[in-house]
Amino acid sequence: MDILISGASVAGPALAYWLRRHGFTPTVVERAEQVRDGGYAVDFRGEALDVLDRMGILDHVLALDTEMGDAALMDGDGKQYATLPAVIFAGDLEILKGDLTRILYEATRDDVEYVFGDSIASLEEDETGVHVTFERGEARTFDLVVGADGLHSRTRALTFGPEEQFVRHLGIYTAVFSLDNYLGLRNTGQLYSVPGRAANIFSARNNTEARAALHFASGPLEYDRRDTEEHKRIVAERFADDRWQVPRLLREAAAARDFHFDANAQVEMECWSKGRVVLLGDAGYCAAPTSGRGTSQALIGAYILAGELAVADGEHTAAFAAYERQMRGYVSEHQQAGRAGAERFFMGTPTQEVLDMIAANAPEVSRAQTVRLKEYPASARVGSSPSGLTAG
Ligand SMILES: Cc1cc2nc3c(=O)[nH]c(=O)nc-3n(C[C@H](O)[C@H](O)[C@H](O)COP(=O)(O)OP(=O)(O)OC[C@H]3O[C@@H](n4cnc5c(N)ncnc54)[C@H](O)[C@@H]3O)c2cc1C
Repeated sequence: MDILISGASVAGPALAYWLRRHGFTPTVVERAEQVRDGGYAVDFRGEALDVLDRMGILDHVLALDTEMGDAALMDGDGKQYATLPAVIFAGDLEILKGDLTRILYEATRDDVEYVFGDSIASLEEDETGVHVTFERGEARTFDLVVGADGLHSRTRALTFGPEEQFVRHLGIYTAVFSLDNYLGLRNTGQLYSVPGRAANIFSARNNTEARAALHFASGPLEYDRRDTEEHKRIVAERFADDRWQVPRLLREAAAARDFHFDANAQVEMECWSKGRVVLLGDAGYCAAPTSGRGTSQALIGAYILAGELAVADGEHTAAFAAYERQMRGYVSEHQQAGRAGAERFFMGTPTQEVLDMIAANAPEVSRAQTVRLKEYPASARVGSSPSGLTAG
């Protein structure tokens, strides 16, 4: 079966990996011209590590662990008033998202067709398959199409309707960007927050670089999602009067080449599939960065979707229903956590006692959200080791 996947970030390449293992033929189309490197850090807990292990790439991910230690909460005068335990923000394992994408891409690129710099333009389904036109490439027909193209999914819009119907804004905007590690941070970070705004800076890539984030509270804003200069202006206006490192961070933001700005939002849908089209990861059930579970959901969703397609021998209606049954409860817990996280996000300056209590509960919270991973035997038709990676 030929399966088109839109999006080559986390969910897309992970699904491509598992589809190959089960004997399907995936093609991945990605709007970016090449693999998206770098970016902010994402963390994993419990069961997502299990999926990485089953894919044979856990060691590669561990080798790029940010190894983040506790971080410092700073006041406007640059004085530390509390310590934020790493277990609260870095999970069991933390890696730059671009590093994860690179590992997933390397593990699949020899057996999977990747098309960069293109996007689905239209989808038309009949009993023979889905007829797809692309912005650049030739039209093609696939048996199934998977939208793994993130919060603003084109696949979702073309199949289910405009994003306003499904995307719920959580009242926070976030900008993230790379910069020099000018504070000389060593596997740590500093955070600053005042009512309605927060900023942080963390070391990255063995302390040779840093990543900063600027968050502010706001209802939905009207802006052009592709106009980075407009995004920088919006952020600069919001933080114009802030202290601590914020004036410097705004200068760094103005010069940043990888400035990413978006709303913290969730995707809520009654059903994740329609006919031969199905959604995966943020495209179908984004839980928002405040949940800290989006990457885990994308990886686990990929594992389950491919496995259920294999069990159903490609009968997509049964497979999509089984995928959704297994994922629903897991996703709704994370979405609940994402909403609760957004409500707490700008709540004043926490005391050390409260932070230590949250840290002590973190492993319990993590375990409570575990999804049970079924065994899906790999197809005898294809090899079982990651293609572009050497072991260890
Ligand atoms: C600031 C920030 C911090 C985060 N921190 C964490 C964290 O600590 N832990 C965690 O688990 N999660 C975190 N997340 C969430 C996590 O990044 C996402 O949940 C995860 O990346 C979802 O993966 P995905 O593959 O579904 O979607 P995405 O990573 O959004 O990827 C979508 C891909 O589709 C491509 N695409 C988009 N449109 C098209 C199109 N029309 N055609 C082709 N390709 C297209 C995009 O270029 C991209 O490569 C964070 C998110 C943000 C923004």
